[in-house]
Amino acid sequence: MIPFINTWPYDLIMGDIYVQECPFCDAVNVRLPMKPKELQSIHDGKKKLLVFPCCSNRSTVLDTDTDYLLFDKPIRYRNANH
Ligand SMILES: [Zn+2]
Repeated sequence: MIPFINTWPYDLIMGDIYVQECPFCDAVNVRLPMKPKELQSIHDGKKKLLVFPCCSNRSTVLDTDTDYLLFDKPIRYRNANH
């Protein structure tokens, strides 16, 4: 089971994938360099190295569901102590 701290919510809007907030740099409404069909291919087992366009931070996506991207490491760590 992948821990919640490794997940980040996304939105699918008009064929583009957005995150409301970048987990690394706090940029808002970031469009990810990823196609909606990749959500399925990742879920089917194809890993995806995701580079956030706002800050060039990168992280590997291991799985997806209808609301969340699941990363290979904790991505909520910046807020973990709040
Ligand atoms: Zn960023």
